[in-house]
Amino acid sequence: MIELKNVTKKFESKKKGHAILALKNVNLTVNQGEIFGVIGYSGAGKSTLVRCVNFLEKPSSGEVIVNGQTLGKLTNDQLRQARQNIGMIFQGFNLLKTANVYDNIAIPLKLTGIPASEIKARVEKYLNIVGLSDKKYVFPNQLSGGQKQRVAIARALSHEPDILLSDEATSALDPETTDSILNLLLKINREFGITILLITHEMHVIQKICDRVAVMENGEIIEQGNVIDVYSDPQTTTTERFVSSIFPSDIPNEIIEELAQRGPIIQLTFVGESADQPALSMLAKKFDIHSNILSGNIVQLKDRPFGKLTAHIQGTKAETDKALHYLIEQGVKVSEVKVNG
Ligand code: ADP
Repeated sequence: MIELKNVTKKFESKKKGHAILALKNVNLTVNQGEIFGVIGYSGAGKSTLVRCVNFLEKPSSGEVIVNGQTLGKLTNDQLRQARQNIGMIFQGFNLLKTANVYDNIAIPLKLTGIPASEIKARVEKYLNIVGLSDKKYVFPNQLSGGQKQRVAIARALSHEPDILLSDEATSALDPETTDSILNLLLKINREFGITILLITHEMHVIQKICDRVAVMENGEIIEQGNVIDVYSDPQTTTTERFVSSIFPSDIPNEIIEELAQRGPIIQLTFVGESADQPALSMLAKKFDIHSNILSGNIVQLKDRPFGKLTAHIQGTKAETDKALHYLIEQGVKVSEVKVNG
């Protein structure tokens, strides 16, 4: 549905002869009906990437293909039409301050030549979907941040697009409001089959609604895949840092030191769907070794639980090696092994 092929974007800097490469050879495919998240720290190139998808930003080289159309090859008229099919929401909502909620949705529809009766029907339909039917005549400054984003979502949907782009849409909202907006995006995706491409710097957003994720750094996609796969087996230190940010901090050093005084210990960290207590009690039963859970956390991904559990096992090297092999055979993913003492 959305395809970026070797997209590079160069910005000429004010300093003569100095260019910023905001995107370097980016390749990305977003399939119809999925929610695809791009995560990265500030300055990674996320905004530039999402702005290339509706040609708010023209790539310096490479191709952007949306619904089978190569955007760079379209005439201005064709591009305008193609853009109708791509809605966008922003961190700052981008509402008209001098217009009420109704007009914020109606004015852009009018500009695209939609007849008045149809405009009325659409405004009502989409305000109802975002739960703001009773705010039609209210002005943006009388709305909360979450309500403003709902208006912006209704405005985007009123053009009945196949694709919704979200540029840090929840970054200015508190956690509770963020959750309610993310639930709304999930509902829109499920009920209308709208493909969503979102960018964020928050792991929480990715894990709550995304099917697939790409991690960006310095203008490049350094890793991409299904959320569960990327979370279970991060290939880069940046991804690892994002993944560990969702789990409360690791075991305090004092505890480790205290345990190590009693003999050598092996610390195992399991991640993934099988990171649960039963795996560990199985281990303790099968091998005559002492095992203890040091910390365990399960978080909810979009459609399944995902856990991280750190445990220590105490025994001779042969015993602990055997136990480790056993775990791997059982399909338990051991992401980290630390030997103390
Ligand atoms: P992110 O969204 O991940 O924070 P951006 O895409 O906004 O990253 O920016 C990527 C890089 O491109 C940054 O170094 C930024 O300063 C630069 N950049 C973005 N837009 C422009 C612009 N219009 N002119 C010059 N440099 C820009």
